[in-house]
Amino acid sequence: MSWDKGKETKSWKDIMEAEKYVYTLGEAGEKFLEGLKEGKIYGRKCRKCGRVYVPPRMYCEDCFEELDEYVTLRSPYIDSFTTIYYDDEGNKLDKPVSIAIIRFEGVKGGLLAYVEGEANQNKNVEIISYDIPLKVKVV
Ligand SMILES: [Zn+2]
Repeated sequence: MSWDKGKETKSWKDIMEAEKYVYTLGEAGEKFLEGLKEGKIYGRKCRKCGRVYVPPRMYCEDCFEELDEYVTLRSPYIDSFTTIYYDDEGNKLDKPVSIAIIRFEGVKGGLLAYVEGEANQNKNVEIISYDIPLKVKVV
């Protein structure tokens, strides 16, 4: 492969058998999934700068501190959403489906969720199912 302007890059086609790989959750991912089973959303807080991340991370991306404090997140709201009216084959759905990015005040990151009720930006929601993706209800 060359980065020189005007030259072609080389490529090849192959098949990746991704389904044969096993990924570990890691410490932070395991704690996050344990939280879902308990009906909680865990974030991880940086002791140096105070930033909180969800899903939890091992290191603060701003100050590179190792993170070791878990916090339970509260007051989720809709950051952005889309409403789907047709399936992937073009058939109209019986009922539209809304999917949103849920965020928490003062927390960096977000989670995907199905929305019950009329989705709108900045609307507060209640988490009604802690499966992945989450299911939330507009309050
Ligand atoms: Zn930090």
